Amino acid sequence: FEKIYRDEDVDLSVLDGRTIAIIGYGSQGRAQSMNMRESGVNIIVGAGDRTRHSSWDKAEADGFEVYSIEEAVEKADIVHILLQDPAQPSVYYDSIHKHLKPGQTLSFAHGFAILYGTIKPPKDVDVVLFVPNGPGPVTRQKFKDGSGIWGCVSVDQDVSGNAMATALAISKAVGSTRVGVVEMTFQHETEGDNYEEQVLYGGTIHLMRTMFDIMVRNGYPRSFAYAKAIRSIRSIIDDIDAVGIESYLTSRASRTCEFAVRHSGPRVINEAAMEAIFQETERGIFARNWLQEFSLGMPTLNRMRRTWADSDMEKTGKIWRDKFGK
Ligand code: NDP
Repeated sequence: FEKIYRDEDVDLSVLDGRTIAIIGYGSQGRAQSMNMRESGVNIIVGAGDRTRHSSWDKAEADGFEVYSIEEAVEKADIVHILLQDPAQPSVYYDSIHKHLKPGQTLSFAHGFAILYGTIKPPKDVDVVLFVPNGPGPVTRQKFKDGSGIWGCVSVDQDVSGNAMATALAISKAVGSTRVGVVEMTFQHETEGDNYEEQVLYGGTIHLMRTMFDIMVRNGYPRSFAYAKAIRSIRSIIDDIDAVGIESYLTSRASRTCEFAVRHSGPRVINEAAMEAIFQETERGIFARNWLQEFSLGMPTLNRMRRTWADSDMEKTGKIWRDKFGK
């Protein structure tokens, strides 16, 4: 069985005396910067022009030294790129590539740009990856609670001979080795992540929406349908993660629920579609579609955002949250 790294397996001191420049101060940038600073790592932030990008002001307000991206790269030993994926190539070639020096480490939180070759780093830097498997605010909150988000690390170029030690140290500083870090390839991290986003996130969200629509269409009160479709899932996930599926079904769920799950659950899943999405992801079709959508100014996303935000389900969710909090 492959190794799952824990705190005691990883030496944080490989980051001693080294400066990490965080490029991009969004969901991941803010969380990872704050967690690493509290782990004793020297962090600076590289941000885009402050008249067009809010990162500069946000990072400064959080007490970080902020520089232009070019300056931050020059001052850093490790350049940790936390820009949104489709924006990475242009920022990289405008402001990072020509400022990199031999011996530096280029680090990512997703393998997209390296796997699909939209960024080609010079041959004399280490290229690594560390991904906490969750959104930035959750990564931050878990760290503050003394826990973390499980993560993965990967090495694409190891010039120094220490690239994996660097990636693992970053993962420890962010808090992920508290709950487990696995080693993998850039390819599996990227395609696995894109597959998870399409199938698990996409499937779960569409399951919730479809369930709500069918119940409401058949006369159920919206508040009830919403609570069934979204609120119920919280307790299920936490319980299953804590004890495992079989133990959940046989010792925590009711017998009716156990029968319902085993009898009808498989009919909800379209395995052929899941397999097709997997194959499309492996052939780079998802990546191509996403890059094309981004380059066109995200017309499909913008249209869907408008219609979904106006949906009955969203309005019902807002009433629940306004009245009873999260
Ligand atoms: P966000 O969209 O939250 O943040 C992106 C940051 O990039 C912002 O600070 C934005 O600055 C900056 N930025 C975008 N365009 C430019 C530009 N042209 N010049 C300068 N700065 C720019 O991204 P995430 O934190 O979600 O993602 C960062 C990385 O982390 C990605 O590789 C992603 O795949 C990975 N990741 C994300 C996870 C998540 O759940 N969010 C989970 C695990 C990995 P400004 O706002 O100032 O414009």
